[in-house]
Amino acid sequence: MLNTKTNLFLGIAILLGLVFATQLAWTFYKLETKNITSEFEQIIDLQVASIERELTLNFEALYAIKGLFNSSAEVTADEFSLLASEIIARHRNIQALEWIPSISHAQRESMVESRRQQNAPHFLISERQQQGQMVQAKQRDEYFPVYYVEPFIGNEAAFGFDLASNPKRAAALNLARQSGQLIATSSITLVQETQQQKGFLAFLPIYNGHPTTVTQRKNQLSGFALGVFKINDLIDSANLHNSLYGINFSIIDATTSTNEVLYQNEAIESNTDIAYSKKIPLIGGREWNIIATPSAQYLSEHRSSTPIVIFLLALAFVSFGSVYTYLLSHRSAEIEMAVIERTQQLNATKEELERITLLDGLTGVANRRHFDSYLAQEWSRAQRNKQPLSLIMIDIDLFKQFNDNYGHLAGDDCLTTVAQILKITVQRSADLVARYGGEEFAIILPNIEDAYIIAELCRQNIEKAVIPHAYSSASDYVTVSIGFSTVIPHDKTDYHSLIASADKALYSAKESGRNTVSSS
Ligand code: GH3
Ligand code: MG
Ligand code: MG
Repeated sequence: MLNTKTNLFLGIAILLGLVFATQLAWTFYKLETKNITSEFEQIIDLQVASIERELTLNFEALYAIKGLFNSSAEVTADEFSLLASEIIARHRNIQALEWIPSISHAQRESMVESRRQQNAPHFLISERQQQGQMVQAKQRDEYFPVYYVEPFIGNEAAFGFDLASNPKRAAALNLARQSGQLIATSSITLVQETQQQKGFLAFLPIYNGHPTTVTQRKNQLSGFALGVFKINDLIDSANLHNSLYGINFSIIDATTSTNEVLYQNEAIESNTDIAYSKKIPLIGGREWNIIATPSAQYLSEHRSSTPIVIFLLALAFVSFGSVYTYLLSHRSAEIEMAVIERTQQLNATKEELERITLLDGLTGVANRRHFDSYLAQEWSRAQRNKQPLSLIMIDIDLFKQFNDNYGHLAGDDCLTTVAQILKITVQRSADLVARYGGEEFAIILPNIEDAYIIAELCRQNIEKAVIPHAYSSASDYVTVSIGFSTVIPHDKTDYHSLIASADKALYSAKESGRNTVSSS
């Protein structure tokens, strides 16, 4: 059995292992999230750069139109069409290129007439009613109509439309006129739009001469080269769709506080932990903000199973370690048990050996060898302490006859009974009852006041046991003759003298008729 300490140790080891495995896996998970985030940001950075480049290239095209108007006093519809169609062929995401002249009310009639002469018999300066229909523009001081438009097909609705009639368009137009810079509108729905796409216009002002002040720019304005763009087409041409797979991507016009959404791909479930936003600064006077979040699918596709594998490996390692430790401690517990068992066996064997070497096999009292060594030991002690040492010798009377008549086995039983009676009679732990030989017993009594009392008690107790002995001349029962001797040992004698003395007393007890105690 394993003890509670081992179990506690194992429990703590497993718990710590679990914490360690989780911590390790979590660290790897975080590291991977960091990598995915930076990879994600790199993708978005690339897309933003791509949009920026595409816008710049497209806006550049407007300067070619500007060049045409700057180099010629009168640009015809055909000349415009030729250049514009070439540009559009190379910039496929430009929805249309237009020439927007600045026309005063005084010029309106002649300009309309002039345009009608150039393959546009139905040209008129128009504006849009609230219901959406295009109607002839009301009288104003100044008009900014779509005078030339390339391609014409698909943009018919815009032809003749007075851009100043609409507030968003007018705002950009005036800003461009005053600043001399290319200015884009906020998000608008194009008049030629048939679907729900958002678009925007980019106005590049063209002046007569080289005005340097706002007033000069106001007065010398000739018109605008205008680019018409659809935001979806722009994203397409920036080839973003494929690399934006699984990414929520939106473009927000952050120029004003309205934060108008210009573009947003299909709504997909997104992970808001990772959100990346980046500004495209001042394109045509506007500020665009790109916001991108990866979808759950994107994240799961970019995640590896490394954290889980690491967790499982660490867990397996810990489990293996714990099982190994468990088995090891189990094994050591088994060994400990085996050692205890073996020690017990050895102790039992030792006791048995002691018993065999020290005790008499038949009667169970001390044997002769034990008697000799104990007597020698007690003799020395008595000698040192100058204390008396007594020895009692006991011999069963007429035991030969007992054997002869009752048999040897009964004789053995009688010997055993006598030995037990002697043992019970002598009570002090220092006293030793021994089988001296044959049917003779001896008792060593260190430092006793009167050995006679014990000797007589022994004789009486055996007599009282009334073991029948019909063939004894001394009694009807088994009796013993006892001789004892007490001495205070001195240097010149050894214990054999004590034996001889007690033996002599025993002899005299026999002589005096048996079943008696004698001393010497
Ligand atoms: P006494 O009164 O003079 O002592 O007479 P006794 O017959 O006892 O003396 P003796 O020495 O002649 O006889 C001793 C007998 O004890 C002889 C022997 O057969 C017997 N004896 C000695 N050892 C054993 C033993 O281990 N078992 C049995 N059954 N008898 C034994
Ligand atoms: Mg004898
Ligand atoms: Mg005898």
